[in-house]
Amino acid sequence: MHSDHSDGTEPPARVVAAAHAAGLRTLALTDHDTTSGWAEAAEASTSLQMTLIPGMELSARHEWRSVHVLGYLFDADDADLRALTDRIRSSRLTRAREMADRIGRDYDLNWDDIVEQTADGATVGRPHLADALVAKGVVRDRGEAFADILHPSGEYYVALYAPDPVTAVRIVADAGGVPIIAHPAGRAGLLPPRLVDRMLDAGLAGFELGHRENVEPALGELRSLVRDRDLIVTGSSDYHGVGKPNQPGEHTTADAMVERIIARGTGSAPVFP
Ligand code: AMP
Ligand code: ZN
Repeated sequence: MHSDHSDGTEPPARVVAAAHAAGLRTLALTDHDTTSGWAEAAEASTSLQMTLIPGMELSARHEWRSVHVLGYLFDADDADLRALTDRIRSSRLTRAREMADRIGRDYDLNWDDIVEQTADGATVGRPHLADALVAKGVVRDRGEAFADILHPSGEYYVALYAPDPVTAVRIVADAGGVPIIAHPAGRAGLLPPRLVDRMLDAGLAGFELGHRENVEPALGELRSLVRDRDLIVTGSSDYHGVGKPNQPGEHTTADAMVERIIARGTGSAPVFP
């Protein structure tokens, strides 16, 4: 789940409350490229008698396509991981400014409009540009902004710095974390088998098969892979508050898999009630 420490629309405590209201007992906070929401989420989950798995969704890229590496239970103070996330977040800021400049040439939008939509210190991304466009009445919602003005094939898009997925996996694993590839069977199709092998060698633990963006036949192929190699399988809502239609608990992770994640993660501990 995402909070307003990245591109979710609610503070961590409200994200935890949304999970609780949906009947969940355990949640993971996985803001993009930051761990700054962990403390607030831990406090909220404790007071609601829930278990929190601290996590992050790390931005990576393979060739032209964005790959999201979920990391659970890593050490948030690990120097290499911090250096990487600092670099990604700083590039995100430069990139968002550049995109705002480009969009501002054709639409009534400037950098202050984006700042207004972004919580202090949050990992900035295209969703904040989308929210600014909504506030300005240019588009109706984030989805419309992503389909057109913010689309990677459009003239306003600027790429952000992102490590290759093998590096991202290795850095999470070296920080004691459990790396899982997020929504790995989306419309872009499967990652090449050789890349998957290299990620597994680097410490990849499994795949997020339960996600609304996964589609057949890629999903079926990954089911076979995880069975053959006995990998961890997760499911998540990818909740972003009102920023996406995704609802808490629309996909979940089996207890046995949560136990495997907890057994494997050595960089930080789950927050138990
Ligand atoms: P960025 O990493 O800044 O390029 O933005 C990508 C993020 O935007 C993803 O992590 C999603 O959370 C979000 N996103 C992508 N597509 C959509 C969409 N159609 N509607 C709402 N949010 C989206
Ligand atoms: Zn997001």
